[in-house]
Amino acid sequence: MARYIFITGGVVSSLGKGLMAASLAALLQARGYRVRIRKFDPYLNVDPGTMSPYQHGEVYVTDDGAETDLDLGHYERFTGVSARQSDNVTSGRIYQTIIQRERRGDYLGATVQVIPHVTDAIKSFAQDQTEDLDFVLCEIGGTVGDIESLPFIEAIRQLRNDLGRGQSISVHVTLVPYIAAAGELKTKPTQHSVRELAALGVQPDVLVCRCEKPLPEGDRRKIAQFCNVRPEAVIAALDAPSIYAVPLQYHAEGLDEEVLRAFAIEPGEKPPLDRWSEITDRLFNPEGEVTVGVVGKYVGLQDAYKSLNEALVHGGIANKVRVNIRWIDAELFEGDEAEVAAALEPCHAILVPGAFGERGAEGKIASVRFARERRVPYFGICFGMQMACIEGARNLAGIEDASSTEFGPTKEPVVGIITEWMSDKGLETREAGGDLGGTMRLGAYPAKLAGNSVVASIYGDNEISERHRHRYEVNTGYRDALEEGGLVFSGMSPDDMLPEIVERPDHPWFVGVQFHPELKSKPFDPHPLFASFIAAAVAQSRLV
Ligand code: GLN
Repeated sequence: MARYIFITGGVVSSLGKGLMAASLAALLQARGYRVRIRKFDPYLNVDPGTMSPYQHGEVYVTDDGAETDLDLGHYERFTGVSARQSDNVTSGRIYQTIIQRERRGDYLGATVQVIPHVTDAIKSFAQDQTEDLDFVLCEIGGTVGDIESLPFIEAIRQLRNDLGRGQSISVHVTLVPYIAAAGELKTKPTQHSVRELAALGVQPDVLVCRCEKPLPEGDRRKIAQFCNVRPEAVIAALDAPSIYAVPLQYHAEGLDEEVLRAFAIEPGEKPPLDRWSEITDRLFNPEGEVTVGVVGKYVGLQDAYKSLNEALVHGGIANKVRVNIRWIDAELFEGDEAEVAAALEPCHAILVPGAFGERGAEGKIASVRFARERRVPYFGICFGMQMACIEGARNLAGIEDASSTEFGPTKEPVVGIITEWMSDKGLETREAGGDLGGTMRLGAYPAKLAGNSVVASIYGDNEISERHRHRYEVNTGYRDALEEGGLVFSGMSPDDMLPEIVERPDHPWFVGVQFHPELKSKPFDPHPLFASFIAAAVAQSRLV
């Protein structure tokens, strides 16, 4: 039977609970255990799919087509375990399920209540599909004390009893702030947070204390004494120079050992962590550096491009270089050539990432043109591929009015809405004006690559599977015109209906993909497209 590790946060948000969970899972995995990480989000949206990136950061898409919290990206990057729909649940989804059941009459006249109906739903979510696992790590979003998270904490309390002794532990992540005027770290917020959690019936077994300065032994003992945990189980967590240094840092502080001890498992030998030391070694000792310009829309918030940012770092790890990302707001240069050049000339490569809506589109199209004409490596992801096609249509195929129906009615829909496509569930159909939530082409779809293409040699394969999240597609009606302009359709859906990849063989590196390769990149297994793109940036940096 799987053992459960419940992870809560206290004092403030943004303490890196997700990274802690991902790191702990990676450490347990290195010890040979089978792990899976789950996230409970207390908000009422059914999923983050319809939330603005500024509200929520990136929406992480799984193979099975779920739109999930960005923490699932960390889980997958750190453990290599592919996340699933069943690994992320929100209060909204739980209430939606319960209310649907209530309307069907499934509750047979009973009063439907938070306890037991909501808590039962949370418990069954936590335990769903866990048969083949040693450890399930459940992270509860938000901060202890939030009204919204109460049903989740209550469900943990109950589940800990249901599971029985030794089958679960509670790990609480808190803040130990440094008060400069006093020159001291303060333990009181942690004491209060643990008291709050204990009042809800959950006594933590391990405390992870985020702090700016090393935690003095006296403070560790004080926290242990007031919070009812062993001093060794008070784990100090200082800021790390890179997220990929976090697993090693937690291991050095004894986190994985203490977690095992809390389960009464003798930790035994040290786990092999070579893959993590290799990554950090490459990260901290680069042999060069390149600058990649990312021309985007949500550049004010890096969380909006979390996986992209990480995949570029992984491309750097593959090439032993530091990747400096220059975030460029596409709206700042709606097509003005001199401004485009000023923003992009310092870049060794240019990337236009996924986006929704017309704002900034002209600046992105101008960036594609700059990259094409100046022969700077170009990588277009999803919206970035669509803009590459519009640029080619306008400037090389003579289709001046080329546009996307996403921006309104157009005579030349080089990019248009898809209302029908095949998936493994059969033919999927959508109405143009239907619901926005959960109705895109989502999740993993296969593609076949042209045998002699650049991308086939990059992947080393002619068949790939990548994750999608979009409503519009490049219109194959324009394929001939675009190919005459030098843009080759080198990846297609197996039925030849949907363009998946375009490339320019006459350019040093010019690839547009309709999917999101960044979602599958791992530090110890960089995505081939990102590894190749950064290699092209390195080559470019040697030219200039
Ligand atoms: N807005 C575009 C579409 O829906 C692109 C989406 C994306 O870049 N993820 O097709």
